[in-house]
Amino acid sequence: RAPDVGMVQEERKDGLGRKICNVPVTRTAEIGASREKLPIVAEEQKIMEAIHNNPCVIVWGTTGSGKTTQVPQFLFEAGYGSHDSSTPGIIGITQPRRVAAVSMAKRVGEELGQYSGKVSYQIRFESTTSKDTAIKFMTDGILLREISQDFALLNYSIIIIDEAHERSVNTDILIGMLSRIVDLRKKMSSEDSEVRPLKLVIMSATLRVSDFLKNSHLFPAALPPLIQAEGRQFPVTTHFARRTERDYLEEAFRKVSRGHRKLPPGGMLVFLTGQNEIKSLLKRLHDTFRSSNRSAVDSMRVQLSASEGPLEVDDLELGTAEDADIEEEDSEDEDSEDEDSEVDFVGHDGEDEDIAFDIGEPVTASLTVHILPLYSQLPTKEQLRVFEIPPDGSRLIVLATNVAETSLTIPGIRYVFDCGRSKERVYDQSTGVQKFEVNWISKASAEQRAGRAGRTGPGHCYRLYSSAVYERDFVEHTGPEILRTPIESLVLQMKTMGLDNVVNFPFPTAPERSSILRAEKLLKNLGALTPTGRVTQLGHRLSIYPLSPRFGKMLAIGAQHDCLPYVIALVSGLAEGDIFVPENQLELNPKERGEDEVYTNDDRLEDSAREQRQKNYNRARAIFSKNDPTSDALKLLSAVCAYAYAQDGDAFCRQMFLRSKALKEVSQLRKQLSDIVRANHPQSIGPYLSRLPTPSPKQLKALNQIVAAGFIDQVAIRADLAPNPPISPRKPQRAIDVPYLALSPSSTNTTSGTTSSDPAIYMHPSSILSPLSPKSLPQYLIYSHLQQSAPSLITSSSSSEKQQAGPKIRMFPLTAVSGAQL
Ligand code: ADP
Ligand code: MG
Repeated sequence: RAPDVGMVQEERKDGLGRKICNVPVTRTAEIGASREKLPIVAEEQKIMEAIHNNPCVIVWGTTGSGKTTQVPQFLFEAGYGSHDSSTPGIIGITQPRRVAAVSMAKRVGEELGQYSGKVSYQIRFESTTSKDTAIKFMTDGILLREISQDFALLNYSIIIIDEAHERSVNTDILIGMLSRIVDLRKKMSSEDSEVRPLKLVIMSATLRVSDFLKNSHLFPAALPPLIQAEGRQFPVTTHFARRTERDYLEEAFRKVSRGHRKLPPGGMLVFLTGQNEIKSLLKRLHDTFRSSNRSAVDSMRVQLSASEGPLEVDDLELGTAEDADIEEEDSEDEDSEDEDSEVDFVGHDGEDEDIAFDIGEPVTASLTVHILPLYSQLPTKEQLRVFEIPPDGSRLIVLATNVAETSLTIPGIRYVFDCGRSKERVYDQSTGVQKFEVNWISKASAEQRAGRAGRTGPGHCYRLYSSAVYERDFVEHTGPEILRTPIESLVLQMKTMGLDNVVNFPFPTAPERSSILRAEKLLKNLGALTPTGRVTQLGHRLSIYPLSPRFGKMLAIGAQHDCLPYVIALVSGLAEGDIFVPENQLELNPKERGEDEVYTNDDRLEDSAREQRQKNYNRARAIFSKNDPTSDALKLLSAVCAYAYAQDGDAFCRQMFLRSKALKEVSQLRKQLSDIVRANHPQSIGPYLSRLPTPSPKQLKALNQIVAAGFIDQVAIRADLAPNPPISPRKPQRAIDVPYLALSPSSTNTTSGTTSSDPAIYMHPSSILSPLSPKSLPQYLIYSHLQQSAPSLITSSSSSEKQQAGPKIRMFPLTAVSGAQL
């Protein structure tokens, strides 16, 4: 029989001297053979010993060494997960992505033969757990939620945090919490013989986890041992591109097609950034080559034609960039790529394609392609097809997102094509708005991606970027997500879990102390925390949204004022940011403005055409401003709602000077937020309607008040109407030159919140108020954010007035408020 049972047969004791029971598993010969090849299986004894003797252990080994599939089985066989052992409680293992949680649970179930029913997974809205569950795979968000319900995690005997090298916020927070929970369980078990200690295993594909060891707060008692399970890795030859094409999708198509024609048999893995790219490349490759995988392509075609449909709700607590797969165009990156290309030509290292692809016997003409997509939103059944053996005489080509970087190992890959980008969450500190952006990956990620080609034998990695770009623009590691994420949401989340002293929390990488304090102040202002820093009932409600708590607050109040669908539309628009084409870009063609429509006449517009366009622009602005001529927030709402009525969204956007890509994203966010509200407060919202009736005057008034409530700490007062008005040398002629003063948040209930030393702030020209006469401007304005910009850009159209030296601070107003409201 397979040798894998024997290994843990002899009687052993755990760290507390209790006998460990073994659960012998009978595996098929096939599974036994494939397990034997995994480097981690040779380390079973060492790993189990370390786990028995330490409360926390770190295991690292390259992707594919068997960590995710084997370590839970070692534990299971050693008696963890069985109720009658010395370590009652189940084995929990977290994954940053749903795909991995589901597919790994299935694989481990298969490997465990007669115990397959004991392996379950749980992701948001989907769970296979039962009373038999012994091994539970879950997303990290699910475990966080469980901790908020039972801080001691009494159901579990051991928790494995997988893919810790990714340093996602959830992983980092979980490790910080678990280091405390392990202590707590130890203390509990010394007082109550029914309670067993909890073990913690941290697993990582890179040595980056040594960061955790440097943090003395994290493991104050004893540093966890670091155990290596080195994977067998064949050499991978890396080929850089000669130049970095901006349109990497086109480049991927070209190189993959060429590679398929020229390269010896072997699977291909192509890294792209999101599902829409994958779908479009899949279609093109299929149209070019005969695919043996007709059904996948056909079903993809159906999905393609329906791809305008709304996004599914995803793990909100997860919210990985890929999950929020927003429709993207190829020309996403607006940075100065063209200059890069020049530099690249000088580089020597980029090879000729003919050389790069000339690595052995070329393919016989009869090799067909077997193309499979792989991304988070794909149904599980489709995802698991990458593990099947491709049909005879075909070449497997997997088009994947980041999920194939470390979470999943696809058998038989010899060639990797790496676009060098990934979609990631970015956070704008000034607006509190999160967005998903396509950016360069890190050098570490590029190495991981290349490594995927060397699992079965020597491989090749084709990078769709030059070594000059790699050296110059790629960072070593992507910084921990916690430094790029809105801290107020995190602080609120931790406090809702009862972790009141955020400053003392053992973060693997701590956010700035000042930003924690700033976040707490904002949460108090919003009413999410009491003055002493405890979570209020409102705070609990706000914590369910994957948005800044400002927006959560607006949603919470919206429910009380019978205008929730409008608030959802408004919040979606605000979170997206710029949906309007700025007036100073009117003379540019849509292409130049970064729009996606293609116009035929590339050059400057004739004067008459420009005049016409200005007229159209004014008309569009007037239409959106009809509801309330002083509220930028309601103008935004009108545009979002009008877009939903358009037959042809793109045409509507062109006509109304809206950015169509942004509005597509807004629509998707509206649907997602509605689903979240419905899941949590079904009584407060009806079925989702994208087309809303015009709001009543009463609702409009409520909406302005709701906006003010979300941004109550961002109030500006017209300087000449302030209690101690600064002396102004001359009367401003235009609204955008009228100085305002920001009221400091702590004193919004008095009118003396400014001092004469505060710098004046000015309205941004994009505001609905900018055409008004200075005298008619409101005394108080609520603004969404401040921006410092060069004065020449803003006042370029009028040179009559020389600006003062230095850039002006511009505010983006949302709505006017009365002094009484403050
Ligand atoms: P690690 O977590 O160290 O990256 P894994 O445990 O995920 O490694 O994978 C170990 C091996 O198991 C890999 O060689 C992979 O190809 C194989 N494997 C994983 N899932 C499946 C599956 N569903 N079908 C077939 N093989 C699989
Ligand atoms: Mg793994």
